[in-house]
Amino acid sequence: MRPFGLFLLPVLALVGCTSDEVEDVDDVVKQLEPLSPSELTDRSPEQRGGRILIFTRTKGFRHDSIPVGVRCLRELAAEQGLEVDQTEDPARFNPTELARFRCVVFLSTTGDILEPPQEKAFEEWMESGGAFFGIHAATDTEFGWPWYGKMVGAYFSNHPKVQPATQDVVDATHPSTAHLPARWRRTDEWYNFRSFEPDLHVLLRLDETSYTGGNNRNHPSAWCKAVGKGRMFYTAGGHTKESFAEPEFRTHLAGALRWLLDPNAKITPSKVDR
Ligand SMILES: [Zn+2]
Repeated sequence: MRPFGLFLLPVLALVGCTSDEVEDVDDVVKQLEPLSPSELTDRSPEQRGGRILIFTRTKGFRHDSIPVGVRCLRELAAEQGLEVDQTEDPARFNPTELARFRCVVFLSTTGDILEPPQEKAFEEWMESGGAFFGIHAATDTEFGWPWYGKMVGAYFSNHPKVQPATQDVVDATHPSTAHLPARWRRTDEWYNFRSFEPDLHVLLRLDETSYTGGNNRNHPSAWCKAVGKGRMFYTAGGHTKESFAEPEFRTHLAGALRWLLDPNAKITPSKVDR
């Protein structure tokens, strides 16, 4: 018997417990002990529990849609039985903390928001089976971190004024797009991107003839891809507060979240014709 059990035995004997129950107490105490970082990181993504982390730190432009975006994601996550933490604290990006989450959302983050050790922790978490959900300005983030640029798939370049535009559904079988019309017209701030990584699975593409100021020609606006043993999803929409009240946009986000957390979801790269 362990020393802790020996210590407890006389105390418990006084209240009429048997030695079998002492073992039970030991088990309970063991369950209450926090898992060590190695025990947590050894767990598969499915064993990490239904918790997502929404990161909203900004070092550049701050979107006033962030609070309603957080509220929307909290509601969508709750519908999927997920718990949500929101933070602006880059110190949360360490192996022990990240191991608690199945998905990390960058909701309109901007600028250089993580220090190198935090970046390394996030890279390792992603490559070992994490899930990244980037929304709108997530591509206007971390221009000096090459791994991030490859992972998020494209960097923001500029944008014309907020206006309606049409996105063509490229893959209608994905949970984020299955509910959409083939040509999805809505109002947002439509980013132009510097270039696109070659391994994106494109889900939506902007029709640049449907609005003014687009300059990517072939212009993906939502995509996903594998990242090591993990996966990522990005959607360019979400500049306006109104976006997060649109039923079709909310279902788009909900489908993305469901796909990110589905261990059986398939990822097929599709060529981006640049
Ligand atoms: Zn914006």
